[in-house]
Amino acid sequence: MDQLRKNYAATDTARADGIGASDFSYNTGSLACPRCEGTRRITLDVQFLPDVDIVCPDCDGSRYAPEAAKYLRRDISLPALLQCTVREAMDHTEDLPSVCRKLTKLEELGLGYLTLGEASPALSGGEAQRLKLVSQMNRDQTGTVFVLDEPSVGLHALDVQTLLRVFDKLAAKGATVTVIEHDLHLIVNADHVIDLGLLEDNPGSEVIATGSPADITRNPDSLTGKYLSQKLE
Ligand SMILES: [Zn+2]
Repeated sequence: MDQLRKNYAATDTARADGIGASDFSYNTGSLACPRCEGTRRITLDVQFLPDVDIVCPDCDGSRYAPEAAKYLRRDISLPALLQCTVREAMDHTEDLPSVCRKLTKLEELGLGYLTLGEASPALSGGEAQRLKLVSQMNRDQTGTVFVLDEPSVGLHALDVQTLLRVFDKLAAKGATVTVIEHDLHLIVNADHVIDLGLLEDNPGSEVIATGSPADITRNPDSLTGKYLSQKLE
């Protein structure tokens, strides 16, 4: 956002109007929607009923006042750009290397379908985890341990492949990636598996089998192993 605000402030129209980067902030800027104050939602006080939270009817959830639509950069305004998906926004920001680099990383993490202006509470747990990984991908990760709880939740099989490439990248940078998962694609690609499950005579969580995915399939007690063997064929 910082980079985008600067670039919108640098357009001829914005300069002519004396509009600076801070004016483009939807939290505090002069172009923020005055009704919802840039929060994109308003609370309706309905008598005798609990308050109702709705999308701001003035800005339609764009967070900006109508004047903001006047400032175009490569034919698109900042509010319109924020309604684009990551993938679409990449086309509009090709000329901004630092912005485009960040968007490319999101795309690589299988998050290309997210809308730029998406509020982070609207993200699923898996999406939020992947978003956090974006900032980590190109750093040295020696001695770092990542613990991820079902990062594949809600992902298409193709996006699971993308996620696997991200884990490989982190591992290549020296990280240890620990994943709690049910997804067989992820499990079969692990170096080491700890299969936790239920034994008939023991209703609690037990370590059923450990080892490589192939080791797990050879363990007659492991139900996971039974399904993994189909993946290994
Ligand atoms: Zn509004």
